[in-house]
Amino acid sequence: MQGVVFLGNKKLEIQNFSDPNPGPDDVILEIQASGMCGSDLKFYRASGGPSSLGLGGDDKPVIAGHEPCGIIVEVGSNVHKNLAYKGMRVMQHHYKGCGVCPHCSTGWQQLCVDGVEVVYGVTGNGAHAKYMKCPVSTLVALRDDISFVAGAAISCGTGTAWGALERLELKASQTIAIYGMGPVGLSAVMLAHKMGARVIALDTNIQRLERSIEFGADNILNPSKSSDIVSEIKDLTNGLGVHASIDASSSPIARSNAIKCVRTWGKACFVGEGGDVTIDVSNDLLRRQVTLIGSWTFSKHGQAECANFIAEKNINVDKLFTHTWSLNQAKEAYELFDLQSDGKGVFIP
Ligand SMILES: [Zn+2]
Ligand SMILES: [Zn+2]
Repeated sequence: MQGVVFLGNKKLEIQNFSDPNPGPDDVILEIQASGMCGSDLKFYRASGGPSSLGLGGDDKPVIAGHEPCGIIVEVGSNVHKNLAYKGMRVMQHHYKGCGVCPHCSTGWQQLCVDGVEVVYGVTGNGAHAKYMKCPVSTLVALRDDISFVAGAAISCGTGTAWGALERLELKASQTIAIYGMGPVGLSAVMLAHKMGARVIALDTNIQRLERSIEFGADNILNPSKSSDIVSEIKDLTNGLGVHASIDASSSPIARSNAIKCVRTWGKACFVGEGGDVTIDVSNDLLRRQVTLIGSWTFSKHGQAECANFIAEKNINVDKLFTHTWSLNQAKEAYELFDLQSDGKGVFIP
């Protein structure tokens, strides 16, 4: 089979791999949808291999794609029939840890005390291919009322937005500011809106910003057109600031504003990867009782809960995707995604 491999420095290649065989505790997925996640850009642009990103791995070529969604076509000899069976629709929680430590056993394999063993699509073969081998422990059943492309989004970008909102304990009576209208930020807009909260969306790209209105943003603000975005947010919130904020942009200025724009006792959450931020600790945090949260994706249970919320609130996650690609269009797909001006793409291998 063929698989998409990131070579670093914005180069990729479609390479040949042998079709995977399941070990005793594995299944083989026939991939029905493999999403392109914002963090793929980090791997696509990296100047070193996976080891340069602090996620382990040995820099051998791996198949990219960490939003896997498909149908089980082969099942390992040890796998209990109630866990996985041929024809079952599944998403994958794309991390493998030791499986038994306090974090792995609560569904957070990425937080394994021994370090995450595999990040699928980054340090182990992912879903930009026809087939993918995964341990049965990483599977999350996909309800019949959720499409494969929605399942792919929930497997990272949309799930990450869910994880951040869970950490913020957002309430229907609250207002949230969300920075960065890429796939994660837009998902956060959509979910926060359906949770009943008022949403202020921010992005410097006008197309992305205007699109957030379709996903439920109540107010939009363009930081590139404003000299003081924090006071604009205060103007929209009775002078107090928002209850909560998310930075999904990774911009140092947006991060700083995400902290400054929350009201006293407010909470700010960082989900954008990489880069840095400068914080005036006393004025921005301590003297306003602000909680700053770092949130890395979601647990396996969180992934299932996110899918249930989406199904029960009838949320159109498919709408996040503006482009559908075949594997042999991977070069074009990532070149477009790299511009960060458009919506989300998905491969249908
Ligand atoms: Zn572990
Ligand atoms: Zn991701």
